Amino acid sequence: MKKILVYPDEILRTRAEPVKEIDGRLQNLIDEMAETMYKAKGVGLAANQVGVLKRLFVMDVSQDEKGGRGELIVLINPEIVGSEGHELMEEGCLSVPDFSAKLKRPAKICVKALDREGKEVELEGGGLFARCVLHELDHLDGICFVDRLSPIKKALFRKRWQKIRAEKLAQG
Ligand code: ZN
Repeated sequence: MKKILVYPDEILRTRAEPVKEIDGRLQNLIDEMAETMYKAKGVGLAANQVGVLKRLFVMDVSQDEKGGRGELIVLINPEIVGSEGHELMEEGCLSVPDFSAKLKRPAKICVKALDREGKEVELEGGGLFARCVLHELDHLDGICFVDRLSPIKKALFRKRWQKIRAEKLAQG
């Protein structure tokens, strides 16, 4: 289990470096990230969120509501090679607990990356899949979804976030 960094940690604001070698150590990190994501009941987790500045993330958008695992997707050095349309969708983040907001992003995407074994993969899809890839890719560029909110929504978020954090501290 890895500790998930909470917004606005400096590492969440830093661009991650490309992965140069996929070895046992990196695969261990990937496995730990997957465990951490499932345990936190998230659909995606980027390396920045566990304090590692490497361009990779894990996701599983096919888990059921009871926490049953679907298909784990591992994307290393991901790159968007195509996108289509726009969609407004509710988004949340393991690094911004207890907050969600609607955000407009491309509706359909095609992403190229390496998988856990270093094999080249190209995946295409819309809905939650596209949303998750774009959200996690943002993390690798040092961007959190709340950074993309309009100025008004961002101001509301800041207020709400202060309250959420204060309540959390009071709970210990
Ligand atoms: Zn996130």
